Amino acid sequence: LSTKLDRAIKTLKGQGSISEINVASTVKEIRRALVDADVNYKVAKEVTDKIKDEAMGREVLTAVSPGQLMVKIVYDELTELMGGEKQDIVIKGDPAVVLLSGLQGSGKTTFAGKLAAFIKKSGRNPLLVACDVYRPAAIDQLKVLGEQIGVEVYSEPENKNPVEISQNGIAYAKKNGKKVVIIDTAGRLAVDEQMMREIEQVKRAINPSETLFVVDSMTGQDAVNTAKTFNDRLNFDGVVLTKLDGDSRGGAALSIRAVVEKPIKFISTGEKMEALDLFYPDRMAQRILGMGDVISLVERAQQQFDEDEAKRINAKIRKNQFDFNDFLGQLEQIKKMGNLKDLVGMIPGAAKMMKDVEIDDDAFKPVESIIKSMTKQERSQPDLINASRRRRLAAGSGTDIQQVNALMKQFEDMRKMMRQMNKMSQTKGGMAQMA
Ligand code: GDP
Ligand code: MG
Repeated sequence: LSTKLDRAIKTLKGQGSISEINVASTVKEIRRALVDADVNYKVAKEVTDKIKDEAMGREVLTAVSPGQLMVKIVYDELTELMGGEKQDIVIKGDPAVVLLSGLQGSGKTTFAGKLAAFIKKSGRNPLLVACDVYRPAAIDQLKVLGEQIGVEVYSEPENKNPVEISQNGIAYAKKNGKKVVIIDTAGRLAVDEQMMREIEQVKRAINPSETLFVVDSMTGQDAVNTAKTFNDRLNFDGVVLTKLDGDSRGGAALSIRAVVEKPIKFISTGEKMEALDLFYPDRMAQRILGMGDVISLVERAQQQFDEDEAKRINAKIRKNQFDFNDFLGQLEQIKKMGNLKDLVGMIPGAAKMMKDVEIDDDAFKPVESIIKSMTKQERSQPDLINASRRRRLAAGSGTDIQQVNALMKQFEDMRKMMRQMNKMSQTKGGMAQMA
């Protein structure tokens, strides 16, 4: 998809404005690219019509080329189409019950394990319940996963009634202090009436706070039809899109959301238990667009970065007066430029490299609260901050002494480096004068 979109957008580049002609042909190419990516034709048409309307009305700013503006419009529309904001799973009740549905092979059992690990990591005690009564191997599969992640699995191999098993599982959870029950169910190869009735009955009997529909993103258009059938019967709360690690074109994400009007909540990107991500519409749009958009990174950076501030800071660095007020100011600037992950995603190649690295958007929080706990005097004269003051800062900022020490060291290193840079530039300047 990305190369096709690239081509469509490239034809716009170098043009001075978004005119009717080039929009029409670009939009047509975008539509074709979306359909090729498994986006439902109707959905693709709707979204490209919107893109067209949006693009026609825009004046091209001097700073951006029509191509760049078009990318932005497409990106915004795709994000919107996938729901705009991230939607969280609802875990409510004692115990909270999450019911999984979907076709056989869609990745339910694997996801059940991942979700259990995810919930365990967030500090709640989950129980997995094996309700796939048709394949004895399915129970074993869940047990193996459970063992791997250290989560208990409830099963009744001799009982063939999934309604009873799920109810018994919930009762077991109550008795044993499990806070979240995840119910893995059976799936057939194709949607069939008996299976639908069965999972409907389970849902009615246990009243889950969250019913998730698990779907293989590789199945393209079929995924949309299956989603529709399941939603008509189950009125599920959210979608889990699996196997996005493969050759999946992501188009299913667009269409499902648009057709069933239910949010995608998780994406599954591998067979390993860690390969689970929350679903962020904007990131998915970026994935579908498949490009590292350096230009908009630069634009955003320029827009937000106050040049005067930069000059002021430079002067302070030159005079070796860089203090915690400046440090805090720099942090604000970085934050203003946007979400760290988004920024990284815009650097070509970086998104791939950073895929497995967790970038914490709140990484700056402790640093900020430490600096905010400093007195005015401490901020401008960091050398005052001795051991007892450090203890006070840790207590005042809700951090610990190691974090305060780490920050102080980081800050000292920074100042040292600045001093060295100053020395170097002074000697260079001196030599230049001599010459
Ligand atoms: P179920 O029948 O719905 O319970 O599906 P399973 O959880 O048993 O998964 C079916 C197959 O797909 C298994 O071989 C899984 O290892 C594999 N699988 C599940 N999720 C993913 C995923 O996100 N990526 C990849 N590559 N494989 C997956
Ligand atoms: Mg299964």
